[in-house]
Amino acid sequence: MSENIAVLGLGLMGTALAETLLAAGHRVTVWNRSAAKADPLTAKGATGAATAAEAVASASLVIVCVLDYQAAREILDGADLAGRTVLNLTNGRPAEARDTGRLVAERGGDYLDGGIMAVPQMIGGPGALILYSGSPAAFDRYEDALKPLAEPRYLGEDPGLAPLYDLAMLTGMYGQIAGFLEAAALIASEKRPVREFTETLLVPWLHAMASAQPRLAEEVESGDYATEVSNLEVNRVGVANLVIAFEEQGVRPDLLLPMKELIDRRVARGHGAEGLSGLIEELR
Ligand code: NDP
Repeated sequence: MSENIAVLGLGLMGTALAETLLAAGHRVTVWNRSAAKADPLTAKGATGAATAAEAVASASLVIVCVLDYQAAREILDGADLAGRTVLNLTNGRPAEARDTGRLVAERGGDYLDGGIMAVPQMIGGPGALILYSGSPAAFDRYEDALKPLAEPRYLGEDPGLAPLYDLAMLTGMYGQIAGFLEAAALIASEKRPVREFTETLLVPWLHAMASAQPRLAEEVESGDYATEVSNLEVNRVGVANLVIAFEEQGVRPDLLLPMKELIDRRVARGHGAEGLSGLIEELR
C-alpha cells in the first residue's frame, strides 16, 4: 500500500531512506535545514516542503533522521503531530527516546524509535537491519511500508529498546575493531602482511570465537560462571604475557589494558577459577 511519508533530514542517511521509499512507490515529502539537499530527491519525484511543519502536515508517517535528538525535537517543534506516527531514526540514547516518545504522545502522535544497523549505501539492499521500538499499533500499521528500507526487527513497546540494542551492537563492534587494531599493529611490527593475516587467520578465528558467545550469554543470565574452557587465572597470565610482548614489539597495548585491568581485579577478588563471563560482575 502506498503511504504519505515525510522524511525530515536529508543527510547521507535521510537521503538514502527517502530514495528507497520513493523507489518503493510511496508518496514522499522531503525537508532539510539546508534546502539544496532536497533537489536531487524532488528531481526523482519527491515533493519538497518549505518547512518541517509543512512536510509533517503532508504525511501520516513522519521519519526524522538528523544529527541528534536535540535537532530532531527542534524540527518537530510547532508541527501538528496529532494522529500521525513519528519514526525517529536519529541515533541516540534510551532516555532520549523515552523523552521524545512522551513528547510526541502529549501532542497526540504515535511514536516509534529506530536504530539503523547499516550504512547509507546498504539501505534497501541485503544485510541492512533496522531495530524498532515504541507503539505496537504504529509498527503493525507501517511495517510493510518500512520493509523496503531494511529487515525490520521490532523489540517492544518501550521506545528506549531500539537505541539500547543499537548501542549494545555498536559496543560489540567497537570491541571487535579494538581487537583488530591491536592485532594488526602486532603483525605490522614485524612488517608482515596485515591483509593476508586478517583474511586467512584473524577473521576465521574471530568467527569461531564468536560462536562461543551464546554460551557466555547463558552464563551471564544464570550467574553461574564456572568454566571448563579457560579460567580467569589462566587468562590473567596470558594477557600479562600479551602486554609484555606488545612492549617488546614496540606496540602500545592501550586497547588491551582495560581488559587486563578487569581480569586482574576479578582474580584479586578471589574469582580466578571463574570463566571470562564472570568479568561482567566487575562492570555492573
Ligand atoms: P549527515 O551528517 O550526513 O546529516 C546530518 C543531517 O542532520 C543533515 O540533514 C543536517 O542538516 C541535519 N541537522 C544537523 N543539525 C541540525 C539541526 N540543528 N537542525 C536541523 N537539522 C540538522 O549524517 P547522517 O545522515 O549520516 O546521519 C543522520 C543520523 O543517522 C545520525 O543520527 C546518525 O548517527 C544516524 N546513522 C547514520 C549512519 C551512517 O552510516 N551514516 C548509520 C546509522 C545511523 P544540514 O544538511 O542542514 O546540515
